[in-house]
Amino acid sequence: MSLLGWRQWAVDDRGQLRPAWTPWSPFPPGMLLWRPDGITEARCLRTKRPDSPASDEPAAGHDRVPDERCLCGLYAWRTPEILAAARRPRWTALPCVVGVVRLGGRIIIGERGYRAERGYPVAVLDRHGVVSAGYSVARYRTFSALVAEWTPSGPEATGMDRIAG
Ligand SMILES: [Zn+2]
Repeated sequence: MSLLGWRQWAVDDRGQLRPAWTPWSPFPPGMLLWRPDGITEARCLRTKRPDSPASDEPAAGHDRVPDERCLCGLYAWRTPEILAAARRPRWTALPCVVGVVRLGGRIIIGERGYRAERGYPVAVLDRHGVVSAGYSVARYRTFSALVAEWTPSGPEATGMDRIAG
């Protein structure tokens, strides 16, 4: 299964994409990084406590990511309209960018968005050129240009198909 989602990223001081909504400081540096060199795999941040006598209870962990009863997975919204209406993160002073991600593996589909097992950024709105050149993503200066090229059923995309065909 593979589909496109829309999301925000915070950009660290090396130009790398990281979660916009999860403060990553308590976790190891590589753990919440969206990889520039390949597919990013979701990890569950709820870990089993090895010292707990009840560590084998279902709520203490699960085998597959994402899990319906958990909050884990790589998040993305379903449409650019939902993304455009979303608040901007306030926990960080780092720059944030929005863009498109290709999701794969196990995907839980919600009303407004997705939680996925795997993800790969494919396009970003990068007005100020803050995203590392290491990401092989399409880069846009305007939201409308991004939307026009990554919304297959949109009127702009249809027009572009006509021109291309
Ligand atoms: Zn989980």
